[in-house]
Amino acid sequence: MNTHDKAPTKGILEVITGCMFSGKTESLIKRAEELGTTAYQAFKPRIDDRYSRTEIVSHNGGKIVCTPVDRAAEIGHRIKPETRLILIDEVQFLDEEIIEILNHWVLKEYHIVVSGLDLDWQGLGFGPMPQILAQADRVDKKFANCAICQSPASRTQRLVANSDDILVGGQEQYEPRCLKHHNPHSVKLAAKRVSQGGGSQGVADHVV
Ligand SMILES: [Zn+2]
Repeated sequence: MNTHDKAPTKGILEVITGCMFSGKTESLIKRAEELGTTAYQAFKPRIDDRYSRTEIVSHNGGKIVCTPVDRAAEIGHRIKPETRLILIDEVQFLDEEIIEILNHWVLKEYHIVVSGLDLDWQGLGFGPMPQILAQADRVDKKFANCAICQSPASRTQRLVANSDDILVGGQEQYEPRCLKHHNPHSVKLAAKRVSQGGGSQGVADHVV
């Protein structure tokens, strides 16, 4: 770690958000490169181990080393004095305590960049994200292409018959959709059919 990096003159919270496959993690990695400090610490919730437990990896293969955490409080405990930049990926999976932790480190004049889904599969605010977005100093909203009509997509369509709040997955389980083509109701209906014994279990039962 390079302790000669210039300290930020002011704390700042930047948020990169959007639906799945909108390039959030890629943007987080790019932003870290732009800021150019080697004195960073990166974190991600342990729940997200789709690609790597100790790296933040974008869908296109970019990566940075990170510390997986089970709870938001762990981040607060792990910040080192020489750190200048705090990066958090998939912040929507963290508990509500992250909101106060972000405020705390911004007040201490750290530069923080987080990325996360603004909306869940039902199109509702995801975990702590609505509050994080509201208190952000800068928001970068990304869009994917709707899988149906190719227009800008802001929603994440779940493709499997599972109505759990959280189902960590990739292209087999989700695709980007515009508001017009986002249909969480179809998922709920399919999940109901599965639970009533009318279909095969879980991921094999695809939703149209
Ligand atoms: Zn569409």
